[in-house]
Amino acid sequence: MAAPNNFLLIIFNCVLILQNAPFLAVALPLPEAISAKLRNDSETIKLASTDYGRIIEEKPYGVFFPGNGSDIAGLIQFMYGSPTPMDIAARGHGHSVQGQSLVENGIVVNMTSLGGLDGRIVVSTTTALGPYADVGGEQLWIDVLHATMAKGLSPLSLTDYLRLTVGGTLSNAGVGGQTFRFGPQISNVLELDVVTGKGELLTCSPTNNPELFYGALGGLGQFGVITRARIPLGPAPTRAKWVRMLYTNFSAFTSDQELLISNNGKEKSNGLNYLEGLLLLELKAPDNSSFYPLPDQPKISSLISQHGIVYVLEVVKYYDQQSAGSVDQDLEKLLTGLRFEAGLKFIKDVSYEEFLDRVHTDELALRSLGLWDVPHPWLNLFIPKSKLFEFEWGVYRSIIQKRKLTTGVLLFYPIFKNKWDEKTSAVIPDEDVFYMAGFLFSSGFNNWQTFEEHNRDILKFCAEAGIGAKLYLPHFESQKEWIDHFGRKWPVFQQRKALFDPKHLLSPGQKIF
Ligand code: FAD
Repeated sequence: MAAPNNFLLIIFNCVLILQNAPFLAVALPLPEAISAKLRNDSETIKLASTDYGRIIEEKPYGVFFPGNGSDIAGLIQFMYGSPTPMDIAARGHGHSVQGQSLVENGIVVNMTSLGGLDGRIVVSTTTALGPYADVGGEQLWIDVLHATMAKGLSPLSLTDYLRLTVGGTLSNAGVGGQTFRFGPQISNVLELDVVTGKGELLTCSPTNNPELFYGALGGLGQFGVITRARIPLGPAPTRAKWVRMLYTNFSAFTSDQELLISNNGKEKSNGLNYLEGLLLLELKAPDNSSFYPLPDQPKISSLISQHGIVYVLEVVKYYDQQSAGSVDQDLEKLLTGLRFEAGLKFIKDVSYEEFLDRVHTDELALRSLGLWDVPHPWLNLFIPKSKLFEFEWGVYRSIIQKRKLTTGVLLFYPIFKNKWDEKTSAVIPDEDVFYMAGFLFSSGFNNWQTFEEHNRDILKFCAEAGIGAKLYLPHFESQKEWIDHFGRKWPVFQQRKALFDPKHLLSPGQKIF
C-alpha cells in the first residue's frame, strides 16, 4: 500500500489527468506502467460493460490496453501481489452472450489492442511440425485465414463465424462444420503462451507445462490469458461446392448426417470437408438473396406448413484448379443414396473465403437493418446420440414448433467424441457421437426474457427426460450447477485453478469460483 501522502498525490494527479488525457490514471495506487494503459472514460466503460448477448451489464472499473504480453503479465502480477486485488477479465471481441467477458468493478483487458502490432501472425513450416502459424490470442480468425491463405495455407478447423478471437474460441472449444473431421479448434493447437493468474508468462504444450496447456484449452479463461497459439495448417483450396438438401423426416436426416461423417474421416482426403445441419421453420418468401432459388421457395414453404419443420443437411466439398474437372462427379458419388426430398438439393459454387466468411455476409445485412446489435438469448447444447429422438420430440416438436420460435438460427449436426482430447477442460457428453444443437435466437430489447424462458424450458425438459445434454458456451448461476456440469472433470478443474489462479482473479464473468 502507498503511504497516505502518496495516495493523495495520486488522486490529485488523477484529477489533472482526467481533464486532459484519453488514458487515465485512476484513484488507485497503480504503477505508472499500468495506469498509463488504463482508460475509464464513459465511452470505453460502456463498450466493455456488455457483450454480444446484450442481456447482462457489468461495469468495469477500467479497461486496460496492453501493448504486449508483458503488459498483461505486469497487470496480473500487480493484482496478485496486492492485498486488495481487482478481478481481471480478458475480452476478446466480447462475442459471449451471458457476460462471460465482463467484470463488475474490475479490469477488462482489451485483447484487441495487441492486434495492431506487427508479427502477431507468423506462418512457418518445419519438417517436424509441417506448416503452422503462431498467432496472437487477440487475433480474429478471419485475419489468421487471410494471412495463411496468402501462403496457400489455411487452419484446419474453423467456427461458422470468423470475427471471433483465437483466445476466445480456444477458451471454449471452437466447433463448426469441420469438427467431425479435424476435431474442435482446441484439438488443433500445438503450443500456447499463457499469462497465468500469478502473472507468469509461460509457454506450454502437450509436453511442456501440460497441465496449463490442457487446462487453458476449453478453460473458460480460468487459468490464464492466452497471448499466443501455434495452430497447424493445411493446404488452402480455392473454391467450395456448397450444398443444402432438405428433409422432412428427422430419422432420415440424422442417419444421413452420420453416414456422411463416418464415410468422411480425416484420412479420406477426397471426402466431404464440412457438414452441419439446420432447421427451417419458415421461409420469408419471396427472397432473392435466399440460398434457395425463387421458383423453389413456394414448394419449400408448403413443405414447412405441412410438416412444421424442414431439416436441412448442409455439406461442402472444396476444390481447386486441379480437381475442378472431377469435383461435380465426386460430389455426386458422395451424396448418392441420401434420402432428402426429391428435387430439393441446392448447390452454390463459391470461393473458399466466401464460404468460410458466410456469416459476415449475414452480419452486414443485419447491421444495415439495425438487427445485429440486439439481444441474443442463445443456448447451445451437446446432445448424446442415444437421446436424439426424445430430444426431437420434446424440444423441436413440443417447444420450438409449437411456440413458432422462428427468430434465429437453429443448428443440429453430429460430432465424434474421439476428435476431442479428454485432457482439455472442455465438457462433452460421454458417447461416441453427439450432436451440436444451437438455438441462436435474436430478440427485441424488451422480449429477450421470453426467449430465456423458452431456453429454461428446453433445459428443464432435458433434465427431466434424462437427455444427458451438456451446455456449450456454458453459463450457470451457482457453483453447484458448475460442479454438475464438469462432473468427473471438476476435481481437476479445481486443482488447476488452485495452481494457476489461486486468488481467483481471472474471468469472473464465468461465475465459477
Ligand atoms: P469473448 O467473448 O471476449 O471471451 C470469451 C471468454 O474467454 C471470456 O471468459 C473471456 O474472459 C475469455 N477470453 C477471451 N480472450 C481470452 C484469451 N486470450 N485468453 C484467455 N481467456 C480469454 N463458437 C463456436 O464454437 N462455433 C461457432 O460457429 C460460433 N459461431 C459464433 C457466431 C457468432 C455470431 C457469435 C457472436 C459467436 C459464435 N461463437 C461460436 C461463440 C464464440 O466462440 C464465443 O463467443 C467465444 O467466446 C469467442 O468470442 P470472443 O473471441 O469475442 O471472446
